[in-house]
Amino acid sequence: MATTVHLAGEGNDEAHAVAEVIAAGRRASARHWVPATSGNFSARIDAGRIAITRSGVDKGALLAADILIQPLDAPLLPRSSAEAPLHVALYHQHPEIGAIFHVHSPAATVIARLAEAEGRVILNGWELQKALAGVTTHEARVEVPVFANEQDTETLAARVDARFAAFGADVHAAPGYLLSGHGLYAWGRTPAEAARHLEALEALFDFELSYRRFTP
Ligand SMILES: [Zn+2]
Repeated sequence: MATTVHLAGEGNDEAHAVAEVIAAGRRASARHWVPATSGNFSARIDAGRIAITRSGVDKGALLAADILIQPLDAPLLPRSSAEAPLHVALYHQHPEIGAIFHVHSPAATVIARLAEAEGRVILNGWELQKALAGVTTHEARVEVPVFANEQDTETLAARVDARFAAFGADVHAAPGYLLSGHGLYAWGRTPAEAARHLEALEALFDFELSYRRFTP
């Protein structure tokens, strides 16, 4: 009999995880966050496996056949997205993560490019910050790391890991990061939490871009 693994995404059997990934992709497509087959979506099935979108598919028309069941300790499956290593690395490093959604949404993509030299976006003063797990006040300083875009996603995954490991207790690290001129990765303990984080972060970046137009 298989051992039951207790995880934040508990209850996510394979079919459930696949359904969550499909739903997340469709929602993001409806928001115009994944143009031209961009973006990728994954959910944890158990300690050793994830469900993840395959390469090159319209996220608004996802079918179960477009979702790969990827073991975390095995080589990437054929038809994997070039960005699958970024998902696998996060699941490895953070056992509490239950879902990761990646989009090429407008505000995230633009603010990442504006903030590339600084290497981060600080969110502060926005009520909506409280949609991020663990943030209880608009006065919190939430740091979203920004990385230069990189086609070698194995190298990029190592940079992301090092950056999150280096965060001190005094910094509230956002449940996500930005790639300059590329987009946003956001995650959560469950698919619902990841979806909330994705929506909140994109809205917060949109607020920031508007605000910066009026401040020196
Ligand atoms: Zn991408």
